[in-house]
Amino acid sequence: MTDLDRGDPLASYRDRFVGADQPLVYFDGNSLGRPLRVTGPRLARFVEEEWGGRLIRGWDERWFDLPRTIGDDLGRVVLGAAPGQAAVGDSTTVLLYKLMRAAVAARPGRTEIVIDRDNFPTDRYVAAGIAEECGLTLRWIDVDTSAGVTAELLSAAVSEQTALVVVSHVAYRSAWLADVPELTRIAHDAGALVLWDLCHSVGSVPLELDAWGVDLAVGCTYKYLNGGPGAPAFLYVAERHLAELTQPIQGWMGAVDPFLMGPSYAPAEGIRRFLSGTPAIVGMLALQDMLALIESAGLDAVRAKSVALTSYAIEVADRLLADAGVVVASPRDPARRGGHVTLNHPLMREVTAALWERDVIPDYRDPHGLRLGLSPLSTSFDEVDRGLAEVREVLNSLA
Ligand SMILES: *Cc1c(COP(=O)(O)O)cnc(C)c1O
Repeated sequence: MTDLDRGDPLASYRDRFVGADQPLVYFDGNSLGRPLRVTGPRLARFVEEEWGGRLIRGWDERWFDLPRTIGDDLGRVVLGAAPGQAAVGDSTTVLLYKLMRAAVAARPGRTEIVIDRDNFPTDRYVAAGIAEECGLTLRWIDVDTSAGVTAELLSAAVSEQTALVVVSHVAYRSAWLADVPELTRIAHDAGALVLWDLCHSVGSVPLELDAWGVDLAVGCTYKYLNGGPGAPAFLYVAERHLAELTQPIQGWMGAVDPFLMGPSYAPAEGIRRFLSGTPAIVGMLALQDMLALIESAGLDAVRAKSVALTSYAIEVADRLLADAGVVVASPRDPARRGGHVTLNHPLMREVTAALWERDVIPDYRDPHGLRLGLSPLSTSFDEVDRGLAEVREVLNSLA
């Protein structure tokens, strides 16, 4: 334990995670969060009592409403959204498709989707597919890969042709933290809708979707929300758009009365119209434990720890790695930085492979980036020390 860990008001939360007592250094909680200890028993209880005990009755008793009740919990704990605007289901990729299609359909006559070249691949691929499908053009924003989309860049890209702007709140590569209210205002001034991808911010950076005037958002639950591999994603649609927007995957679970089993589709009122098929209930269980934990810690305290961790990682990298040619490729201003730090060096691909062998688990991202994901409730300052000392050793051994 370092002095920083001793002074960390959230230090005790680490013990709640499976494996955090092991020497392994985990820098990938932003790709797959660790499981909570309470999650195993929760899953076992679900199999025994709810699935095994209630059987098909479980749907009426609880499961059918779960995508929306957890959506409301997300709204309260991490999204800054009043009830009735968020729901859980599908993957982020599928939800991106649904909401991008919904948005461009709501802006008929406009011909462009604005998106940056450094946005996450799935966001770019889905946007490209929709552009082709709907006869639209992608207007690309070129960004500095050590930073991200700024107000100036967005202002230059939007016009009366823009139907939709798609931006990530925290850039997956650099951790650039976009100014949501400002960029949303710029898009709105051009008459466009905005879809925010929250995968790399939700659960580590406080969000105020309602107050910021956000139209649409999607995000993962298996990163900082520790929902487990492939846990379903979530979407947010602002109340003011719920009556007007419809989505393209017209399934029975989003229909006005699923059990009427009528001859044709009519969308449900409210957020349920964005659901399509039977929800993945088992996948939604672990996420509830993490939401409860974040609520008890307080999201502002989580963010404060996140800023302290990333600031410390940059400080140690400057001290230990700069003379080996390592360059910090994330914003140095904590107000513009999300929950991870990327360090560039020409050998980082090899370094990452060697680190995995040594039970130090970061990610590698092109070009030459070692990505340190510092999940605030499960990562210690001591891990940062030990992990970066290993980076130094591996770099020395490769030099
Ligand atoms: C992780 C991530 C995704 C993942 O989408 P899936 O459909 O869950 O594979 C999408 N967008 C961003 C920005 C991400 O970081």
